[in-house]
Amino acid sequence: MDNKDNKAPLKDHRQIGQELDLFSFHDVAPGAVFWHPKGLVIYKVLEEFIRKETEKEGYKEISTPVMVKNSLFKQSGHWEHFGKHNMFNLAIHEDEEIAEGKIVPEVNYSLKPMNCPESTLIYSTTTRSYQDLPIKFSDYGMLHRRELSGVLGGLFRLRQFTIDDAHLYVKPDQIQEEIRKLLTLVVRFYKSLNFQPEFYFSTKPDKAMGDPKLWDEAEKDLEEALKSAKVKYGIKKKDGAFYGPKIDIHIKDSQNRDWQLATIQLDFQIPEKMELEYIDADGKPKRPVMIHRAIFGSFERFIGILTEHYRGAFPLWLSPVQVIIMPITDKQGSHAKKIVEDLKKEGIRVELDNRTERLQAKIRDGSLQKVPYLGIIGDREIESSSISVRMRNGKDLGKLKISDFLQKLKEEIDKKI
Ligand SMILES: [Zn+2]
Repeated sequence: MDNKDNKAPLKDHRQIGQELDLFSFHDVAPGAVFWHPKGLVIYKVLEEFIRKETEKEGYKEISTPVMVKNSLFKQSGHWEHFGKHNMFNLAIHEDEEIAEGKIVPEVNYSLKPMNCPESTLIYSTTTRSYQDLPIKFSDYGMLHRRELSGVLGGLFRLRQFTIDDAHLYVKPDQIQEEIRKLLTLVVRFYKSLNFQPEFYFSTKPDKAMGDPKLWDEAEKDLEEALKSAKVKYGIKKKDGAFYGPKIDIHIKDSQNRDWQLATIQLDFQIPEKMELEYIDADGKPKRPVMIHRAIFGSFERFIGILTEHYRGAFPLWLSPVQVIIMPITDKQGSHAKKIVEDLKKEGIRVELDNRTERLQAKIRDGSLQKVPYLGIIGDREIESSSISVRMRNGKDLGKLKISDFLQKLKEEIDKKI
């Protein structure tokens, strides 16, 4: 992060979002975000990053309906345990009700509050063999949870959001290895964003359901995985969910605030309720264990945290606009335009500021918009096929050859600094 930005007073992400034209909230949709073009760039870049990282690990992406019959959540146990009052439940006319002229239909559908039950339906569309496991489905489905209006808070607490979600279906003897791989993935992911993740292992609660032997073994597996991944961890005694032990992932932001972001959660219950099976080596059907996992949790909340962490001065790879090219006068306009086109072809998010404003005003506006690099084009720059580069914190990098500037941008994007 630029040093100068670090000293700026802390602002709420909602205010930064408004100043930088990233997102907004409107009374017509409490607890839901309206992404503006610039904010959506950040969202898409993060999504692409997580997609690439997980594809390398053998995940297959699925997509499942937002609105489903609530019989599914009754079967999965969510209706009772997650709580039907925490969901948005809808009364949709069935064909026969319309034919009968019924005005008020039964509450029969819900907006999904989580992706897991639907993921299991895809798992069960075919007979799975022990050789197929682990199966890893990632799912970036839109979720709705009926949070009370009093607790809604910008991107931090929403009613509609999306998680970088995935479900792993594993044999019990694969738990340890898959958890170890997940921990390694989480560490790699956060290190590449310059965060140091912290782990907390939550053990069996008093109200635990399921086979105590399976619980004991799973807890041992999780602890072994934490040790073999060589990560530091704390223990939250008896803080596991009733359906399985879990590992919580926390980070600290630039204000040293602690955020719980994501969870790796073992689940013995959903495979029972949804009657999931695989055919084992002995030819007999067995229950797989399900692992729910997210790495940064909700995209929206994570972007809210990053917005405050960076105070709007996102690193180059996440910046909605990475470079603004500014001709000093109209005379250099067409040359500046050509540079913009060339940088665009190289995948750089670049804009042209050809307003008839004074250069100082353009530089000030670019800095206020937290654009990492401002490229100035005058006659001398044109003569030497170069560009004068300023950073958003006021640092003057002097004249750089266009090709060197492009090289510098690509390296920084790659390193995510
Ligand atoms: Zn899940």
